[in-house]
Amino acid sequence: MPVHVGRIAVAIGAVLAAAPVEAQGGGAETTVMALVGATLVNPGAPPLPDAVVVVAEQRIACAGTRVVCRVPGGAQVIDVRGAYIIPGLIDAHVHYSQTGWVDGRPDAFDVRAELRYDSTMVALRREPGRFHRAWLCSGVTSVFDVGGYPWTFDLARVTRSATDAPRVVAAGPLLSTIDHWVNLPAEQQFVFMRTDSLVRAAVRAQVAAGAEAVKVWYVDLPDSVRARKRPLLDLAGAEAARTRLPLIVHATERHTAKEALAAGAKVLVHSIESDTVDAELIELARRHGTILIPTLTVLEGYADVYLGRSPSGRYPLDCVDRATRAKLERVLPEPGRRRAIAYFQGGALERQRATMEENLRRLKAAGVPIAMGTDAGNPGTAHGPSVYREMAALHHAGLSIAEVLTASTITAARAAGIASDVGSIEAGKRADLVVLDGDPLADLANVRRVRLVVRNGALHRRADLTPRR
Ligand SMILES: [Zn+2]
Repeated sequence: MPVHVGRIAVAIGAVLAAAPVEAQGGGAETTVMALVGATLVNPGAPPLPDAVVVVAEQRIACAGTRVVCRVPGGAQVIDVRGAYIIPGLIDAHVHYSQTGWVDGRPDAFDVRAELRYDSTMVALRREPGRFHRAWLCSGVTSVFDVGGYPWTFDLARVTRSATDAPRVVAAGPLLSTIDHWVNLPAEQQFVFMRTDSLVRAAVRAQVAAGAEAVKVWYVDLPDSVRARKRPLLDLAGAEAARTRLPLIVHATERHTAKEALAAGAKVLVHSIESDTVDAELIELARRHGTILIPTLTVLEGYADVYLGRSPSGRYPLDCVDRATRAKLERVLPEPGRRRAIAYFQGGALERQRATMEENLRRLKAAGVPIAMGTDAGNPGTAHGPSVYREMAALHHAGLSIAEVLTASTITAARAAGIASDVGSIEAGKRADLVVLDGDPLADLANVRRVRLVVRNGALHRRADLTPRR
């Protein structure tokens, strides 16, 4: 999507310049702020050196050259010469109902004798702040929660205009073709698609609760609904369309992905992992305008946990809260992970990655939009800094740095249905942006060099977002 910083920007800039500005560098009362002198790096546009970004209240009032964007009298001026400004990063696949370690996924490794699952879920619901902070600290200002407990709808409501949390877009409980047991007695994150009427009722309930997408977990396992799986998926797709919500689907095989696309999936939340995509699949994706979220690195997280490695070898942990970090650096007892060790030592990770990369290249070449998503919350994939690893993996798979930045901003915003509000730095959009100490286009690793994060117009120094040790 092209970025416009032209006429509308000038108009709003002029209005601001003429309006009286009350605040003068005074904390919470400051209503107008200008970031001056950095290079502006917007998706789909050439970098703009010596730019001015004017922020008024929660929105971008103007973004462009010093000629286009005059600094309003009385604005708080932030000198960012030598730095780079990018839109706030967006992770289009996360789970606030998962911790980033195995205590949130007892089906992966059972530590319930030590850490009760229900207590863990209560803590997640009560203290989302630790993840909010880790996201902002990592330069991420919006996330798409593509499956979790009903309380994730509350997160979506309260974070929309928050300055101390990323915007959370929530799909809520997911419709599943298997009767998954990782639920709570009184609350479900997996809703088993048992019958037509249940699927209809579930979609209706999601809409009433504030869902921003309908997610189907479309997996083939011995206890899945097998024979009726496809008509139930089609029904979920039709119900989603009727209620004007996008259908998003977990389907990681070629045939299930095709069925998902035929049912109208607007987003595939993972790669096709086991087979290469063919012309029919590509044509279906193009016809439906489907966005692919490859989630290339989530299995690496599982490998780290099972092999007893800290994920710090893959991404920095300084934005991660102490308790989560301690879990991530723990080595689990060996008897419980022997089979997994053999699986990973047998080259499973490398084989899967090669297939996903090949599929990514084919889909990208065919013009299918790619959005960055980590699957954060899964074991070994921490909320926040895991985006750096995923972005590097997208680059390694063949996306240029500019394409990775597009995937991690405006296309991720499209996947989450919020592209009219965020994803690029242009007048009228939310003031969600990141100031970097290095040029991300010269070296993608510079996205890790976060100096400042602006969320809904509020300025955070990275140092203030880092948890105390
Ligand atoms: Zn997921």
